[in-house]
Amino acid sequence: MAGDPGRTVIASADVVVVGSGAFGASVAYHLARRGARVAVLERSGLASQTSPRAAGLSSQVRATPALTRLAQRAVVKLAAFTDETGQPLRFTQSGALKIARTERDAEQLSREVARGDAAGVEIDFVSVAEARRRLPILGERGILAVTWSPTDCNVEPSELPIGYCRAAEKLGAVLLPHTPATGFDIGRRSVEGVRTPRGTIGTRAVVDAAGAWARLVAGGLGAALPVVPTRHQLLITEPIPGVGPEFPIARVIDANVYVRHERGGLMLGGYEPDPVQLDAATLPPSFDVAELPLDIEVLWRLARSVSEQFPIFQDPTIRVAEHRGGLPTLTMDDRYLAGPLLGVAGAWVMSGCCVGGLSVSPALGEAMAEWILDGAPALDLSEISTARFAGYLPDEIELRERCRRAYATHYRTGGDVSTAS
Ligand SMILES: Cc1cc2nc3c(=O)[nH]c(=O)nc-3n(C[C@H](O)[C@H](O)[C@H](O)COP(=O)(O)OP(=O)(O)OC[C@H]3O[C@@H](n4cnc5c(N)ncnc54)[C@H](O)[C@@H]3O)c2cc1C
Repeated sequence: MAGDPGRTVIASADVVVVGSGAFGASVAYHLARRGARVAVLERSGLASQTSPRAAGLSSQVRATPALTRLAQRAVVKLAAFTDETGQPLRFTQSGALKIARTERDAEQLSREVARGDAAGVEIDFVSVAEARRRLPILGERGILAVTWSPTDCNVEPSELPIGYCRAAEKLGAVLLPHTPATGFDIGRRSVEGVRTPRGTIGTRAVVDAAGAWARLVAGGLGAALPVVPTRHQLLITEPIPGVGPEFPIARVIDANVYVRHERGGLMLGGYEPDPVQLDAATLPPSFDVAELPLDIEVLWRLARSVSEQFPIFQDPTIRVAEHRGGLPTLTMDDRYLAGPLLGVAGAWVMSGCCVGGLSVSPALGEAMAEWILDGAPALDLSEISTARFAGYLPDEIELRERCRRAYATHYRTGGDVSTAS
């Protein structure tokens, strides 16, 4: 693979992508597929930070028709990933159950079914008995309503960004691991180059896909980015008899908890009310997401909050095989943040993944490549565009509080048009 640390970087590229996670790798691949000369800068190992630690879940019925179309397109591309790129990807179309325990959430599910019908995403209410037939570990108490979406899927998260990196490289992209973007040359009219410890790459276009560091990179380009890196964790149990890959994904709306099958055991993750928020500027330059301090008690609290629906997590013999976490970036309205970095011609951003960036990255990378090369994406990205925050930047305390709230109510704000602001 390219990127021998001893080599000097290339002299120029049509587009320099900063970051090789799900966002950066996907846009690099889609740009290279269109014939652009692309360089990917990665401060660490390729695709090694938050992306490989994801749960890998997709959910297609989103808060608005445009966001639903983006998520639908992503699932089509995930299903066809290996055919399209020649790279492996474990893809499981397990379907998903969504569980309402309150009247309010049952009403949200009604709106989601209506939106799914309008968008052509299969989704309908099922009885608790039918939900339990599909997911035998589901308890029968405390459930007011459940929907079933058969086309929702999950993928092996570590394979997706590295697959896009390798496919991009085959198309001529230059991958530069262990090579941070350290600064930018900005001329009178636009971006002119990206500085690295191994020289400057001349370019007229930069994509900030730096994950938890996106705000720092945007700052280097002279733009403010209202996102907050936020710790998110999951656990995977040792194999449990009777648990298999045919188990659908299950989400409990008010508890903000998800469960799915993984390696013969169960994966549980969720969104606590008061997550750890970080400022990447305070992290040492060598920081690796693998060093992020984790707290498994957060996950046991979430598990206890769904003990009626998932009594299996209260079994004292249950053993944790893996506990992992990463640093997704949150926005104030729980929506992605993508498009031109305002005020800096030639600078673009893909950030604000809101813990849903891995699964949407195939469609978002494709759309961003169109935006950069054609001047507009084929899909409507206006609801997630940087333009929505133009001229509005709250102070740090308010930004953090609004991002915390978005995180803590993710299955309401992310899934429901009536509460998304
Ligand atoms: C536990 C967990 C569960 C999740 N579950 C899901 C899920 O079910 N579905 C889903 O869709 N999403 C999920 N996510 C979210 C998903 O992981 C993110 O949305 C996605 O990984 C974001 O990708 P990224 O490219 O923005 O970030 P990253 O993967 O972190 O990539 C950013 C890269 O930029 C590099 N970088 C930073 N600064 C520089 C610089 N100056 N120069 C060069 N490189 C730089 C970093 O080193 C890093 O490799 C989950 C996340 C976690 C932690």
